[in-house]
Amino acid sequence: MSLYIILMGVQGAGKGEQAKFIRDRYGIPHVSTGDLFRAMKTREDDLAKRVQQIMASGNLVDDATTNEVVKDRLSQPDARGGVIFDGYPRTPNQAAWLESYLAERGEKINAVILLDLDLYTAFKRAFGRVSTAAGSTYNIYFNADGLQEFKFEDHPEKQFPPRLVAVEQGTGERLVRRPDDASADAILKRIDTFVATTQPLIDYFDAKNLVKRVNADQSIEAVSTAIQQVIGV
Ligand code: AMP
Repeated sequence: MSLYIILMGVQGAGKGEQAKFIRDRYGIPHVSTGDLFRAMKTREDDLAKRVQQIMASGNLVDDATTNEVVKDRLSQPDARGGVIFDGYPRTPNQAAWLESYLAERGEKINAVILLDLDLYTAFKRAFGRVSTAAGSTYNIYFNADGLQEFKFEDHPEKQFPPRLVAVEQGTGERLVRRPDDASADAILKRIDTFVATTQPLIDYFDAKNLVKRVNADQSIEAVSTAIQQVIGV
């Protein structure tokens, strides 16, 4: 049996971790259209150039192009048993195309998994994240035990929000934030965009009874267990 799973969740809901879990548990590849488009960066053909331009402008790639790229990905041998979609579909049009494409092959979308997380928690997961150069990650709101200290410090020009300073216990290393996590505005904008683009899709799939909501405000393992129950195999 093939397994086509759509994974949705606001940034910070743990989509990456859970995509890995599903991939390993069910042996199906993780297909992120964002990754597929980014992989076109080094290509010089017309399609790749058009995609690069659209992504640089921050807009969505048009549905026809996106569906074409997905169709090509689904035709590859490792996708024969199904895939986990991440970042796709982004519009009801893409969803409708995917359904009819799968139906022609006697397949269907098995589940749309929505990693449910309240938006304030999503904000804090991004805004509070700090890491060492080697990649150990902490969060000032949820996982601060390994920190010697953290505080907010004024910028020289008093920009808002103030700068977060955090130091790792033991090593004394000063931790860094991803640049896009340091701006409260940018995080809110990403959350806003997620809500605006996802709601029509949730409505679309809810009408078909396909949406399975999983509480993402629990440990990674607990979320994985809940996902396994939802998939039901
Ligand atoms: P992501 O990594 O999913 O945030 O995607 C990065 C960029 O790729 C987006 O801002 C869009 O320009 C483009 N993109 C990714 N997935 C889609 C999609 N399903 N439909 C349209 N554009 C997409």
